[in-house]
Amino acid sequence: MAFDLDRLRESKDFLSTLLNNITSAIFIVDEAVRIQTFNDVFRALFQRPEDQVLGELCGNVLGCAYAVEEGKDCGQTSCCHACGLRQSVLKALTEDVFTYRAPLTRDFYVQGTRILKHFQYTVKSILYGDARMVLLILDDVTQIEEQKKTLEELNNLKNRFLGIAAHDLRSPASVIEMNSNFLLNYGAENFTGQQAELLTIIGERSRFILKLLEDLLDVAKIESGKLQLNKTKNRYPDFVAKTLALNRIIAERKGIRIDLSVRGDVPELMFDKNKMEQVLNNLIGNAVKYSEPGTAVLVEVVREGPVVTTKVIDRGKGIPAGEVPAIFQEFHRTSVDATGGEKSTGLGLAIAKKIVKGHGGEIGVASEEGKGSTFYFSLPVDKEQAT
Ligand code: ADP
Repeated sequence: MAFDLDRLRESKDFLSTLLNNITSAIFIVDEAVRIQTFNDVFRALFQRPEDQVLGELCGNVLGCAYAVEEGKDCGQTSCCHACGLRQSVLKALTEDVFTYRAPLTRDFYVQGTRILKHFQYTVKSILYGDARMVLLILDDVTQIEEQKKTLEELNNLKNRFLGIAAHDLRSPASVIEMNSNFLLNYGAENFTGQQAELLTIIGERSRFILKLLEDLLDVAKIESGKLQLNKTKNRYPDFVAKTLALNRIIAERKGIRIDLSVRGDVPELMFDKNKMEQVLNNLIGNAVKYSEPGTAVLVEVVREGPVVTTKVIDRGKGIPAGEVPAIFQEFHRTSVDATGGEKSTGLGLAIAKKIVKGHGGEIGVASEEGKGSTFYFSLPVDKEQAT
């Protein structure tokens, strides 16, 4: 068969064009971790002349800070045993292990300057003729990592600001709430009907402001990683029953009944009582808020293998399907109005989700518009008890 040299040349050219136009740095090392070939992005990233790359040790060419500062070759420095990239290359060579987009954060010397770089590397063993080699793909994600860090710092600043603002507004709001209550309770005879009505509105609004500030403080605390769970071992059904008792008083004012059903053998659970009370109060409070008078809310506690699931089932207004996915996001409110004109901050479910997640559980909802909603969350059973 005639050997088509032109076609071979063409396909070689095509492959090298392809290789040089990919946005990742691509290079191949041999069994001694010496570079055998590399593309244009690699050249641009590490800025070395070709004769200082080909046949040279990988870490030396990359300008690994350990190799440069210890004056040693790649493979001989004090940190080579802990270098993820090196270990991946060796594993690819000896065990054919494939590494996909692993992170590498390290100081590198580029043209004499020490620079902190973030890479993601992919390592794959290849057979080139008879020789086993390793293909490496490096993506420089330094800019993305730096932007992520800036965003995290800004987010922390926002949380601190939110925390301070909410904290400082709490005392004046509670003074307004207490005084309006005091005037209504002890000076009612001095007010006209209209004045008393105004005082009632002031009391209601300041209670709402206080609730909003409490929620904002919770969000700021949780977001800045300061959610501290004080977990103790408790009989969960007893705890739920006790929490329901308080909610029943509010529900009865609206003519709504709350039932409790405990199914299966529910063991003692480890949880933070205050925080889980907050979760239950939110879910039951919502169920009452979006239900019509005369209906019932069912709270069901059931052991399901390694978890105990709590369901809060209402026969209320339900949530339109398109609005369900965003429901656990901060400040998210749906188009559904509360049946008794109650106010909503859109923070309760976001806080509940973070508390449940903090306990290692899951939270979710199944809802049908016009028929009602079932909010549920799980709490893990102790490993010992689960077995
Ligand atoms: P808030 O605590 O202010 O009520 P949530 O985060 O608890 O806020 O709830 C967010 C939104 O989810 C509510 O404004 C409401 O639109 C919707 N929602 C929550 N629970 C129910 C429910 N049981 N039935 C219908 N809509 C609900």
